Amino acid sequence: MSPDIPDEDPRSIVWFDIDNTLYSASTKISQAMGQRIHAYFVGLGLDKDKASELHHAYYTQYGLALRGLTRHHDIDPMDFDRKCDGTLPLDDLIKPDPRLRKLFQDLDRTQVRVWALTNAYKNHAQRVLKILDLEDQIEGLVYCDYQQIGFTCKPEPDYYHNAMKQANISDPSKCYFVDDSRLNVTSAKELGWGHCVHFYEVGLETVEGGKTKKLVRDTNTNDLEGIAQISDLEELRTLWPEIFI
Ligand SMILES: [Mg+2]
Repeated sequence: MSPDIPDEDPRSIVWFDIDNTLYSASTKISQAMGQRIHAYFVGLGLDKDKASELHHAYYTQYGLALRGLTRHHDIDPMDFDRKCDGTLPLDDLIKPDPRLRKLFQDLDRTQVRVWALTNAYKNHAQRVLKILDLEDQIEGLVYCDYQQIGFTCKPEPDYYHNAMKQANISDPSKCYFVDDSRLNVTSAKELGWGHCVHFYEVGLETVEGGKTKKLVRDTNTNDLEGIAQISDLEELRTLWPEIFI
């Protein structure tokens, strides 16, 4: 144990991404989010084509459209959060899944702590966790702090370093992580996170940076770099038997 962190919890941490991981992409929440972000760009006075172009460009360059908006336009990130994530009809789109709740209950808390690691702001993250009836199962939440100038997000290494700092864990090999973004998982793996899993729902569509993407099976990426790919979180029981009761 590092002498700098005398009170470090000896347990490992399981980090769960939230959006399109704790609920299926079939909910089409990413599509609804994409439409709202597009409308936000249009609301800045851009025509539809320019709005789509910038939305995608910012997403590609900065990981989140909002990061480009705060850099290049005079916008209030909290206004963005209210109008985009804040207006999503989540209660109509997702509901608690007893099977998922049981999966969380079956995590051996003598072995692991359970945290969420999201690229959303805390309001959205907390709303989703509450609707999914998982609030009491998550011990900590690392979110994108929209209010902080120059905030980071996955897959930037700083974001993972900050997450570990917040959770007071110094050994990356003790991190378990599941996320639906291949980039996010690969980045964690490169930082030495010990148990990285890619949640991937083949056949479904998601929207990233305003563009629709069909999730197709790519045999070249399957288990690439030692990252397992799953399409059902129940498979974690088999992949990580040491942390389930
Ligand atoms: Mg996600």
